[in-house]
Amino acid sequence: MITSAESLQSERDAKDIWKECLGIIKENIPFITYNTWFLPIKPFEVENNVLKIYVPNTFFIEWIEEHYNTLINKTISQVLGTGGKLVYVILEEKEPVEPVPETKKANVFSSETTNSIKPKDFESFLNPRYIFENFIKGEGNQLARAAAYAVSENPGQTSFNPLFIYGGVGLGKTHLIQAIGNKILDRYPDKRVIYLPSDVFTVEFVEAIQNNTVNEFSNFYKSMDALIIDDIQFLVGKEKTQDLFFHIFNTLHQTGKQIILSSDKSPKDLKGLSERLISRFLWGLQADVQPPDFETRVAILINKSETYGIKLSNEIFEYIAANITSNIRELEGCLIKLLANSSLSSKEIDFELVKKTVKEVSTSKQINISIDFITKVVCEFFNVEENKVREKNRRKEVVLARQVAMYLAKQLTKSSLKTIGLHFGGRDHSTVIHAQSCVEQMIKDDRKFEDIVISLKNKIELSVS
Ligand code: ADP
Ligand code: MG
Repeated sequence: MITSAESLQSERDAKDIWKECLGIIKENIPFITYNTWFLPIKPFEVENNVLKIYVPNTFFIEWIEEHYNTLINKTISQVLGTGGKLVYVILEEKEPVEPVPETKKANVFSSETTNSIKPKDFESFLNPRYIFENFIKGEGNQLARAAAYAVSENPGQTSFNPLFIYGGVGLGKTHLIQAIGNKILDRYPDKRVIYLPSDVFTVEFVEAIQNNTVNEFSNFYKSMDALIIDDIQFLVGKEKTQDLFFHIFNTLHQTGKQIILSSDKSPKDLKGLSERLISRFLWGLQADVQPPDFETRVAILINKSETYGIKLSNEIFEYIAANITSNIRELEGCLIKLLANSSLSSKEIDFELVKKTVKEVSTSKQINISIDFITKVVCEFFNVEENKVREKNRRKEVVLARQVAMYLAKQLTKSSLKTIGLHFGGRDHSTVIHAQSCVEQMIKDDRKFEDIVISLKNKIELSVS
C-alpha cells in the first residue's frame, strides 16, 4: 500500500498531500469534528518526508493529539510511507502594525520529541496563547493588567519591580505574567526572557546541586532581562531554594532587570517564606486579581468562543455566565467541554446540551490538586525517589511511575500537556501523550493495574478534599 511513497513525494506538493490526508481523516470522524478541528489547518510545506501544517494555536495541537493521535499517525504513514512525519507550526495572529521578528512568527512543534526551533540558546517557555490582546479587562483585574502592561513596555525601568500579582485559582495570573513576557519579546526580540513555575525552579536547582552546576544554574538566571516566576507560594518551606533565589533577585534588581512573580497569596500572607524575601517582594508593586463580574464573564465567553470557532446565542452566553461564577478557567472549561461534547457526538450545540454541560462543570469537585502532590503519592506507591521521575532515568519502575504520574496529572488537574511536561524535567508535550496512551493500554490489559491506578486516584482526591 505504501510503495515508492518517497519517490512520489517530490512530485506532490504539501497541498496535495494534505488533501489526501484530509480525505482519509474525513472518513473516520464525525463531520462536526472534521469541520471544527481539521478544516482550519493549512498545509505549509513538505521536505524529506516531513509534512508541516499550520494550526491556529497550541490548543489545536493538544486537542487533536489527545483525541486523534492514532488516526493521524496512521494517516501519515499511509500517505507518506512509514518514515513519514508530521510537524505542527503554530500560526500566531499578530497585528501587522509592529514588525514581528522572524523567530517569533512561528513556533515549531514536532509530533516527535526532537526538532523544536529555539529563538535563543534557551527556551522562554512562554505560551503564545497568553497575550494582552485576548486578556479581557474587568474591574477585578484592572490594576494588575495596567501594571503588567506598563512593565511590558519598559521592563526594569518602572517602579513596578518586582511586579507581584496575586489572587485565587483560575483568575488570570499565569495569563497576565506570560503576556508580559510575550510582549517584551515582541518589542525587544533580543531580550532574554524566561518563564517558569517556582516548583520547576526548585527541581532544576536540586538537579544542579546533584550535578555540581549550581554556579551555572545561578548565572543562567542572573543573565535574564526579565525573569517570570509563577506560583511563588511553592517556595514556602524550601529554604535553600529561597536563599539562591534571593541572590538571583538581588543581582537582577541591582542591574535594572525586571522580575515578575505570581502567587496565590499576598506577600505578607506567605507564611514560611523568609522575611528578607518578603521585604524584597514589597519593594515593587503588589496587584491582586479578583473574580470577574457578570459582564466581564460574558465578554470573556464571547471572546473565547470566537477563538474556538463556536457560535452561540447571547442567551446561552448569559446562561453560562450566570451559572459559572467562581473562576475564568471554569468558564473556559465549559466552552471546551461543549465543543468536545458536540463534536464527538456530532450534535449541534443546543440549550439542552448547554444546561447539561454547565451542570457537569459546576458540580465537578472544586479542588486544586498540584502536579507535585500527584507525583509524590505515585512515587511513594512505586517506591521511587521523586527526583528520579524528573530526570532522564529509564529504569523500568521509574518509567512506570513517571507515566502514571503524568496520566493522573492530566486526569486530575487542568494543566495543559505542555505544563505537565514541564513538571517532569521539561519533557515535550508528545511525551505526555505517549504516557497517557501507554497507561490507558495497560489499564485495558491488566485488571490489577487498573485497580492500582484507581486507588491512587482516590487517594489523591481524598487527601485534598
Ligand atoms: P491562574 O494562573 O490565576 O490560576 P490562568 O492565568 O491560568 O489563571 O487563567 C485560567 C484560564 O482563564 C486561562 O486559560 C486564561 O487564558 C483564562 N483567563 C483568565 N483571565 C482572563 C481574562 N481576563 N481574559 C481572558 N481569559 C482569561
Ligand atoms: Mg497559574
